[in-house]
Amino acid sequence: MNGLMMQMPLLISSLIRHADRHHGDTEIVSRRVEGDIHRYTYRDCHRRARQMANALARLGIRDSDAVGTIAWNGYRHMELYFAVSGSGAVLHTVNPRLHPDQIVYIADHAEDKAIFFDLSFLPIIKAIAGRTRTAKIFVAMTDAAHLPADHGIPGLVCYEDLIAGASDAYEWPVFSEEHASSICYTSGTTGNPKGVLYSHRSTLLHTYSIALPDSLNLSARDVLLPVVPMFHVNAWGLPYAACMVGSKLVYPGPGLDGKSLYELFESEQVTLSAGVPTVWQGLLAHVESQKLRFSSMNRTVIGGSACPPAMIHAFQDGYGVQVLHAWGMTEMSPVGTVATFKARHLAGSAAARNAVQARQGRVVFGVDMKVVDPEGRELPWDGKSSGDLLVRGPAILHSYFKNEGGDPLEEGWFPTGDVANIDADGYMQITDRSKDVIKSGGEWIGSIDLENIAMGHPAVAMAACIAVKHPKWDERPLLVVQKKPGAELDREQMLAWYEGKVANWWTPDDVAFVESIPLGATGKMLKNRLREQFRDYRLPDA
Ligand code: AMP
Repeated sequence: MNGLMMQMPLLISSLIRHADRHHGDTEIVSRRVEGDIHRYTYRDCHRRARQMANALARLGIRDSDAVGTIAWNGYRHMELYFAVSGSGAVLHTVNPRLHPDQIVYIADHAEDKAIFFDLSFLPIIKAIAGRTRTAKIFVAMTDAAHLPADHGIPGLVCYEDLIAGASDAYEWPVFSEEHASSICYTSGTTGNPKGVLYSHRSTLLHTYSIALPDSLNLSARDVLLPVVPMFHVNAWGLPYAACMVGSKLVYPGPGLDGKSLYELFESEQVTLSAGVPTVWQGLLAHVESQKLRFSSMNRTVIGGSACPPAMIHAFQDGYGVQVLHAWGMTEMSPVGTVATFKARHLAGSAAARNAVQARQGRVVFGVDMKVVDPEGRELPWDGKSSGDLLVRGPAILHSYFKNEGGDPLEEGWFPTGDVANIDADGYMQITDRSKDVIKSGGEWIGSIDLENIAMGHPAVAMAACIAVKHPKWDERPLLVVQKKPGAELDREQMLAWYEGKVANWWTPDDVAFVESIPLGATGKMLKNRLREQFRDYRLPDA
């Protein structure tokens, strides 16, 4: 027997409609590429999204067509989130830090019909226009006054002209909630990027789960500034979640340095932010050097790569900003776990709370996880047994776009490629990417642990630990260090820092100081590049 409740599909358009109807006056503030600060409301955003939906139809964009964006976090990008997906087309957010050849590859693979871009990315468009197979329409996300006369792109369309010429009378179509809504390509450090195609249903379920109190605890009383780019897994779903709960939104545009972010945090009284550790390093360096305080920010989400305990400590103890350490993947929409406390942690010791926060956290509702040994047997939740981390859930992919790479699942579970353990309370800790694991004398050494310790040293800006060949032990850890500007640190001091912090045999065999550690398109350390660079490195006793 079926239940007798309304059959209303979970659609992305319902988010912006809700935000307009119930939080219509709430502001969306954006630092624009044009250089100024733009402000309007959810009501304005909804109106312009409807106009854009009409304009897309006029451009010939049909149901299920892909529409690319190469843009910063800003209000026009937000309008496209709703205009494109809401009208039944598929939003393809492109990472501008990719090489133009890769952008052509993914635009063709996704079969983008049009590409919308911020003016800062005009050089990319110049490099790819004429090369993309299906994308023949290019739209500059600006007004005619700001469009450079010598842009050199034949038939270039101006975003504000499209809006001005379109009616705001538009009824969001109703279709199956399984309909594709957006596509994101994985950063893929090797091989071609693979597409993860989200649905309206997966997006809405993920939106509910990340807003919950033990996830990000997002509400209509928050002012949310997503630093995580809208081209990186839909800014972790935050634009959608803000609509669901009616938070004020602040978009930083291209201003991602510590000073620009701090100014916006203060001027807009931001309460919550989110981004990768490398961004927060810049912000912390700025507030430390200028002796500043945060007057409104009370928590920040840090994920995308492991958040070193030293950073958690700096935010919480130095500035009173609670850190929400989170883990996820493009394939998971992306949030999988968030490190928030259970009731008894509040009564426990500070050391126990620190230990909880150094872990990547508990699953958000809708994610199930397990760790398995090489034979696929589930390992106990004892906080020690590390193995391959597998996940499943309604916002986790079951195959890549166009079935690239074949069936990725193992008996219905998605193998994350991460190595982790889970403790008795369900808090998961990533110890490594499986391909980054260091295997010494048949035992695993957790590179993330070693990096976190190094990053706790006051002279260290960034540290990566990689495996180097060793005749006796097979592999041994080499620590690659980028010092803070002007800081003094030598090999012996760095190695002495590990004394008493790890088992002796975990201590890196050597330290290599580098000018800068290479970062990928989403701000993660490119360890494969370092492994390549140090492939023939001879360790002292090897
Ligand atoms: P992406 O799909 O590009 O977002 O990359 C996902 C991968 O980033 C995960 O599989 C992890 O290896 C890594 N990652 C994300 N968040 C964390 C975290 N909090 N700690 C450690 N690794 C993380």
